[in-house]
Amino acid sequence: MDASRRKQINELAVTVRESLGLTTPIDVEEVIDRLGGSIEDFDPYYGQDAEAYVRKSGDSFAIAVNDCVGHARRRFSIAHELGHLFLHLGYLIDDDLWGSVDSYIDSVRHRMGYNEEEFEAHEFAGSLLMPADEFRIVANQFFADGLYPLEKIAEYFDVSSKAVKVRGCWLGVFSWE
Ligand SMILES: [Zn+2]
Repeated sequence: MDASRRKQINELAVTVRESLGLTTPIDVEEVIDRLGGSIEDFDPYYGQDAEAYVRKSGDSFAIAVNDCVGHARRRFSIAHELGHLFLHLGYLIDDDLWGSVDSYIDSVRHRMGYNEEEFEAHEFAGSLLMPADEFRIVANQFFADGLYPLEKIAEYFDVSSKAVKVRGCWLGVFSWE
């Protein structure tokens, strides 16, 4: 994923937030509902060992998350699947792509190693849950004693500290060390 693709994905996430009037912390299940999709019980047939999946369901879609996943991770997983929905299934933004998709299975299942679609879906999830502009403002607000308190930022966005760390590094707010 090059810089322009990353920028495009961040902008798409902002567009989704703005068009649905979402505010932080966003309610990911409400997002699914507002987009016309549904949450379903995790069916191993589609996901097997996966943490979550998105599948086409008639003209719409269904997302499921494995029960073993905790709160913050569940939120991130749903946002990740929404990334696949827009970026790789074309839902609402690319009718040709959406029309050509029969059954999409989260790429993590059937491709090993390096996986561009996974990076893209992760970027979308980070952008949807933690928009770049808001992230910078909030990180600076919490900055104290020479440190960014990851837990406080995580609480603000209702995500894991690890997700905050990764997002902040990509945005150049934190260093990777
Ligand atoms: Zn995925």
